Amino acid sequence: MQEAVAVRQPNLKDFGYDALREKFQQEGWSAYRADQVLRWIYARGVSDVRSMTDLPVEVRDRLIREWEMDALSLKAVQKSQDGTRKLALRTRDGSTIEAVMIPEERRNTLCVSTQVGCPLACSFCATGAMGLTRNLRASEIVEQVLLARSVLDPDETLTNVVYMGMGEPLLNWSAVAESIRILTHPKTLAMAPRRLTVSTSGIVPRIRALLELAPVNLAISLHATTDAVRDILVPLNRRFPLATLLGTLKSEPLIGRRRPVFFEYTLMEGINDSIADARRLPSLLQGIPCKLNVIPMNPHADAPQRPPDRAVCDAFMAELHRAGLRVTLRRNRGADIDAACGQLAAREATEGRSELGGSS
Ligand code: SAH
Ligand code: SF4
Repeated sequence: MQEAVAVRQPNLKDFGYDALREKFQQEGWSAYRADQVLRWIYARGVSDVRSMTDLPVEVRDRLIREWEMDALSLKAVQKSQDGTRKLALRTRDGSTIEAVMIPEERRNTLCVSTQVGCPLACSFCATGAMGLTRNLRASEIVEQVLLARSVLDPDETLTNVVYMGMGEPLLNWSAVAESIRILTHPKTLAMAPRRLTVSTSGIVPRIRALLELAPVNLAISLHATTDAVRDILVPLNRRFPLATLLGTLKSEPLIGRRRPVFFEYTLMEGINDSIADARRLPSLLQGIPCKLNVIPMNPHADAPQRPPDRAVCDAFMAELHRAGLRVTLRRNRGADIDAACGQLAAREATEGRSELGGSS
């Protein structure tokens, strides 16, 4: 019972700059108190209200009594041979979610989760096999970033955040939107919007709202060139079929040369990997400034599909290159610790993998 009450308390990290100022004013405090609190949390990395020494005692007392500060706790960190790190994080109500840090030559990208599970049941995705437990709160999305920063080596910085972990971001719109405000606002985490990417399986009515919120990158999980195949891989396609999804992107004025759409295409053996598929892609995507990321499927126990052989991937890529598409074949990062795209299902709790501090 106590836990349920705790979850309903507001969390300081649920609110961006404007929202916290407004909320504090409703509490009868000066909006300036919100500026002070945000400075403590985001500029000074303080995680205890007692340390916010420039706040009046009665504000501090009420924040301690009536507000939460920590949204997640770090349960385990696993490190892949390629340097990818997977963070298992526990919510206050006892769920486990995952975030993945992917180091590259000139950047460090964190892949964050937006839901505990996902309701959309894409047939090749481990998260989809879990179903939906609940939406994450803005504080739980932001805390993934703060905790990931805390486990970086001293010479590393977090440069990019992709909303590509567990869950469908655009089905948790208000929390995702507030988390983007917190990540990008100069008074909070001050990341450039172009450093953020939101991936969606195609919740068409929310795409406009995302593009209007901030100039973040939009990634669309395409995965098929016909409705017949996409209906099976991404069941959401039955509500928003290819013509609707791609038509929306074609007519969207906020998508332009400087803000291409990133299409994700997970290659699955014998399903969407034919030369005919590769030949259909250029005409499907015509009129949308875009880049295509082709990803050989990451296999896992919850899905029957497999990645194609190397030669099939190469032939698929060669066809796309011939057509002049901007396309990259993505490496599977972190597959040895189930941290690659589509493998996130928070299994640590049951499998007893390496605990915090014991990563190798
Ligand atoms: N729900 C959002 C974001 C999270 S999924 C979306 O679907 O876009 C992040 C990406 O991983 C998506 O492109 C998704 O299709 C892809 N993915 C899911 N399962 C995968 C798997 N087994 N192998 C490779 N990519 C996968
Ligand atoms: Fe959900 Fe994305 Fe997985 Fe589909 S691919 S089930 S939308 S997390």
